[in-house]
Amino acid sequence: MNGGERLEFEIHRNPAPVSAAERAALLANPGFGRVFTDHMVTIRYAEGKGWYDARVEARAPIQMDPATAVLHYAQEIFEGLKAYRADGGGVTLFRADANARRFRDSAQRMAMAALPEQAFLDSLKALVEIDREWVPDDPEASLYLRPFMYASEVFLGVKPSAEYLYAVIASPVGPYFKGGVAPVAVWVSDKYTRAAPGGTGAAKCGGNYATSLVAQAEAVEHGCDQALFLDAVERRYVDELSGMNVFFVFDDGSLVTPPLTGTILPGITRDSVLTLAREQGHEVREELYSFEQWRADAASGRLREVFACGTAAVLTPIGTVRSTDGEFVIADGGTGELTGRLRQTLVDIQRGRIADRHGWVRRIL
Ligand SMILES: *Cc1c(COP(=O)(O)O)cnc(C)c1O
Repeated sequence: MNGGERLEFEIHRNPAPVSAAERAALLANPGFGRVFTDHMVTIRYAEGKGWYDARVEARAPIQMDPATAVLHYAQEIFEGLKAYRADGGGVTLFRADANARRFRDSAQRMAMAALPEQAFLDSLKALVEIDREWVPDDPEASLYLRPFMYASEVFLGVKPSAEYLYAVIASPVGPYFKGGVAPVAVWVSDKYTRAAPGGTGAAKCGGNYATSLVAQAEAVEHGCDQALFLDAVERRYVDELSGMNVFFVFDDGSLVTPPLTGTILPGITRDSVLTLAREQGHEVREELYSFEQWRADAASGRLREVFACGTAAVLTPIGTVRSTDGEFVIADGGTGELTGRLRQTLVDIQRGRIADRHGWVRRIL
C-alpha cells in the first residue's frame, strides 16, 4: 500500500475460540495483561513493496529466525489504548488518532517504516470487531489494545531493517485500582536515568522500558511502587515515571508539568489533563521543576497534590516520595481533591457519561 489507498484485511476466524463460559470467567477478573482475546492483526512491510498481507487471524506465537534484527538491535515500538463498552453494546475509542500519530513519530525516531495513520485505525477496528465479545461490560473495565511493530528482517548488519511486522493484540483489563484509587510511593533514583537529550525519550519504544527496569527494581527494594526519573544532564529536574507523566498542583490552584523537550513521552492523558484543567479555570504551566523545589514546596505546604497519568491507570495520586536523602509526604499523603476530580472528569468522558466537547471519543462499532 502506498499513499492514499486503503488496506484490505483478510479475515481468518480462529477455528477454536475460547467458549462463552470460559470467556465470562476470564472477564470476571482479568487483571492486567495476562488474558488475551482470540485474534490478532498483522501487517507486513518490505522496502520497495510497502505495506502488504494485512490479516486478522487466530492469536498465535510468531515464529522468528534467530537472526531477526529486533532480537539484536531492538528496533521496536508500541502503543497502548483502551476500547470501551458504550451504551447499547457499541464500542468506543478515546483519541485513537493521537495514538496513530504518535506511532508514526515513534517509527520515525527509530528509523522504521511509518504505518499510515488510517491503516493503524483500521487495524484497531478490525480486531475489536472480531473480538467484540471480549470488550468487558463492567463500567470499570475495558479492552486494552496493544499495537506494536518490530524489525523483522533476518540480517545481523547494523542498519535500519528493510522489513517490519506490525501487529495488534488485545487484552481485557479490570479496574487498575481494585477497591478505589490509592496513592503510590515513588522512588527518585540518583543512580539511573531514563532518557538523555537527543535520545529516544519521546518515542514509545521497548528500549526505554528496558532501561527503566533496574530503577524500578531499586524502587521496589526501597518499598516504593514506581521509579521517578530526573533529567539525565543535571540530575535535577523531574522528567517522568517509566510509563506515566507527572503533574504538580499548588495551593493557588495552578498546575505544573514538565515540558516536552524530547526526553519525556508526550502522553495523551497528559495532553487531555492539560486541556481539562485549563477548561476548569486552572493555570497550567509546562516548565522545569526541580527535585529540590519539590521537596521545599512539600515542606512549606505550597504543594498540595502530585499525580502521575497514563492510559493504564488514568490518574494516580503520588503520596510519598523517597530517595537516598530520605522521605517526604505530599500534604496528608492521600488522594488530592483536584486529582480525584480530574480523574473523574476524564473517565466520565471516556465512558460517555458526560459531554465530549473535544471530539475525543469515537464510536467504532
Ligand atoms: C505511554 C507512556 C506514557 C503515557 O502516555 P498515554 O498516552 O497517556 O498513555 C507516559 N510515559 C511513558 C514513558 C510512556 O511510555
